[in-house]
Amino acid sequence: MLFDPIIDRFSNDLAIDLGTANTLVCVKGRGVVVNEPSVVAFSRNGEDGNRVLAIGNDARAMLGRTPRHIVAIRPFKDGVIADFGITEAMLRHFIKKAHNRRTLIRPRVIVCVPSGITPVEKRAVREVTEAAGAREVYFIAKALAAAIGVGLPITEPTCNMVLDIGGGTTEVAVISLAGIVYSKSVRVGGDMMDEAILQYIKRKYNLLIGERTAELIKTTIGNACAGDKVERMQIKGRDLVSGIPKIIGVDSDEIREAISVQIEEIFETVKEAFEKNPPELAADMIEKGIVLTGGGALLKNLDKALQEKTGLPITVADDPLSSVVKGSEKALNSIEILRQVMI
Ligand code: ADP
Ligand code: MG
Repeated sequence: MLFDPIIDRFSNDLAIDLGTANTLVCVKGRGVVVNEPSVVAFSRNGEDGNRVLAIGNDARAMLGRTPRHIVAIRPFKDGVIADFGITEAMLRHFIKKAHNRRTLIRPRVIVCVPSGITPVEKRAVREVTEAAGAREVYFIAKALAAAIGVGLPITEPTCNMVLDIGGGTTEVAVISLAGIVYSKSVRVGGDMMDEAILQYIKRKYNLLIGERTAELIKTTIGNACAGDKVERMQIKGRDLVSGIPKIIGVDSDEIREAISVQIEEIFETVKEAFEKNPPELAADMIEKGIVLTGGGALLKNLDKALQEKTGLPITVADDPLSSVVKGSEKALNSIEILRQVMI
C-alpha cells in the first residue's frame, strides 16, 4: 500500500536528490536535512576491497589532494552509478545522517532520477537504495521534481520548460499534465566548464590549476555574456615550465571565452527541444518562457544570454541548487502529488 497513513504517523520517510555534484536529502516534515557534495574518499586495500575514509564535505576537501593509495571519487559523475559499493556507502551515510543516526524503521525513500534513466540504471539505483537501508523506493524524474519545487503549474494542460544545469549533466524537459512531454539529457554541465577553464589556463599561461580552483574561478568571475564591467581575480597554480607555484591574474572575458563551448552546447540542447516539439509548445513558451534550475543556473548572466538567444522570458529559480529536493519534499508530503508524478 502506498504510504500507509498508520505507519505514516511514525514516518521517517525521506526524499533524495542524488546529484552528480551534490546530494540533498529531506525528511518528511523537517525539510532539507542533508546537503553535501556527492563525493567519497576511500583507500584501496587490495584483497580487502575498499575502505571508505570520508563522505560528503570531508571527502570533497580531499579531492585532488590524496596520496596515491587514497582515492576521492564522485559516484554519479556522469549521471550513472560508477561503483555499487561506494554508492551504497555514500547513500547509507546520508540516510543515517538524515535521521541523526537513529534507525528505528527502515524509511521509504523517494529518489529523484534523470528522466532518461534506463531500466537497467533504475534497477541499479533501486538496489543500491535498498542496500543502503530503504524499505521501499519510489522514483520521480528530476525535471518534474524541479518543476514542482519552483511551483510551476505542472498538472495543467500547458507546457512548461525546465532547464536543469547540474555538475555532470544538463537536462531540458517539457512538462504538461504532470508528465514529461519531452526530455533530453546531455553530458555537459558545471564539471565540463571547470575542465575547460583548467585547460584554457594551462594553454594560455602554462599554469596548472586544480579542479577546485577552476570551479572557484567559474563561480567568482565566470559569466555567459559580458556584464557592466570586466572582473578580475588572482589565481594560484603550478608553472609548467619552472615547476614552481605561481600567482597570475585572469579576467571574466577570458573565462567566458574558456567556457563558451559548453554554454553553446547547453543552448543547442534548448534549441533542439523547440525543434522536436509541436508548435503549440512554442506558443506556450512565448508566454511562460524557461525556468532555470541546478547550480549551473547561478552562472552570471546565463539568463541574460539565453534570453538574448531565444527572445523568451527566462526565470532563474530561487535557490536553484535545491529546486529538485524541494519538489520531492512536496511529493513526500502529499500522496496526491506523488501518485501523479511517480515513475
Ligand atoms: P547536480 O544536480 O548534478 O549535483 P548541482 O545542481 O548541485 O548539480 O550543481 C552543481 C554545479 O553547479 C557545479 O558544477 C557547480 O560548480 C555549479 N555552480 C554552483 N554555484 C555556481 C555559480 N555561482 N556559478 C556557476 N556555477 C555554479
Ligand atoms: Mg541538481
